[in-house]
Amino acid sequence: MIDLSLSAPQQEVRDKFRSFADRHIIPARMHHDRDSSFPFEIMNKAWDEGIFNSPIPEQYGGSGCSFTESALASEELGAGCVGMGITIDTHTLACLPILLSGSQSCRTSLFGQIMKRRMIGAFCLTEPDAGSDIGNLKTTAERKGGSYILNGRKRFITNGEIAGFHTVFAKTDSSAGARGISIFFVPAGVAGVKIVSRMDKMGQRAAVQNEIEYENVEIPQEYLIGTEGGGFKTAMKTFNRTRISIAALALGNARAAWEYAGNWASRRIQFGKPVTVNQGVSFKLADMRTEIEAARLLIWNAASAIDRNTSEQAMLSSMAKYYATDKAMRITEDAVQVMGGEGYSKEHPVEKMMRDAKLCQIYEGTNEIQKLIISKNMFSRS
Ligand SMILES: Cc1cc2nc3c(=O)[nH]c(=O)nc-3n(C[C@H](O)[C@H](O)[C@H](O)COP(=O)(O)OP(=O)(O)OC[C@H]3O[C@@H](n4cnc5c(N)ncnc54)[C@H](O)[C@@H]3O)c2cc1C
Repeated sequence: MIDLSLSAPQQEVRDKFRSFADRHIIPARMHHDRDSSFPFEIMNKAWDEGIFNSPIPEQYGGSGCSFTESALASEELGAGCVGMGITIDTHTLACLPILLSGSQSCRTSLFGQIMKRRMIGAFCLTEPDAGSDIGNLKTTAERKGGSYILNGRKRFITNGEIAGFHTVFAKTDSSAGARGISIFFVPAGVAGVKIVSRMDKMGQRAAVQNEIEYENVEIPQEYLIGTEGGGFKTAMKTFNRTRISIAALALGNARAAWEYAGNWASRRIQFGKPVTVNQGVSFKLADMRTEIEAARLLIWNAASAIDRNTSEQAMLSSMAKYYATDKAMRITEDAVQVMGGEGYSKEHPVEKMMRDAKLCQIYEGTNEIQKLIISKNMFSRS
């Protein structure tokens, strides 16, 4: 028998994140969406209450959650506000290369700084000419004595302007393609790091994204994370984990839209009856609920593959990301439709949820790239 019931610790994690979303995120989400203002106060509370750093082991100052528990956490953050959820999950994205590839002394030293100074992280991979094709990075890190000199430009960087540290991907060997990529820990305040601009965007407006320039930034050798040339492999291992979080944020968003639209529709009277007595409405809600359950199973399956260190992690995590985020897009759009004109109004959160859903299909690898990963893995097994 396969038992999918949550254990007591898993329920505890889910309840903790749900309570945080109910108390702090949901009351403030419409305001931050409207103003596109960064929720500093809520993020401070999130750090105080251990909402950041969930999958970082306790020995390094985190909560020591499994990736299954982290997926439960992200679902609750997504049900609150995907913009605030991605701010928190991007910090995890920036920390994971340290955890996955850093030496013992690198982990102790960098997590020591991050936890002591409550540094939120930014993950700096994408560039103007390197989006899906990350092997085409132009940022360079040249060795000079005991340091590296970093030069280049990064685009669409979540948390850029508010981050305490950047996890930067740069070429240490420009002739080696993806095998020339290395990763560096860059404290945000060092000379030569410049925030060029902030992105104005459709959804997830509580989160910030920036273009960042690195001009002759001197980085001590001990801030190299892992080995020279090991950056691409580490990025892929990181994404196997964090794409599950994106899927879970999208799932939470879809669940919240389904709940809101379903409650509204069951009270909306037209032609003398609640609109949910029409199959045109109730079948939509039934499809939405079915797809939410299916997405959750894919997410738990992928997270469990990571926790148990079984095979096919990349494929399962891409399946979860592609399926959950595509379904979340459809579910949030249908939530607007179920509510008619009210759904389109900013008096209700479903139009925000629809705008927020779109981005989950794009970042951390577009869904076209996820299908590429799935098909590549399928054929490499046969
Ligand atoms: C709001 C936001 C936040 C982000 N946050 C971060 C961040 O924190 N850190 C970071 O490093 N990056 C971040 N990104 C970048 C994001 O991961 C990229 O935008 C994404 O990977 C796609 O790259 P691109 O935009 O350059 O699209 P492109 O690579 O230019 O793709 C354009 C289109 O072509 C398709 N395409 C490309 N290649 C193929 C192919 N081989 N087969 C089929 N279709 C293909 C794509 O799916 C897409 O539809 C963020 C982006 C946004 C918009």
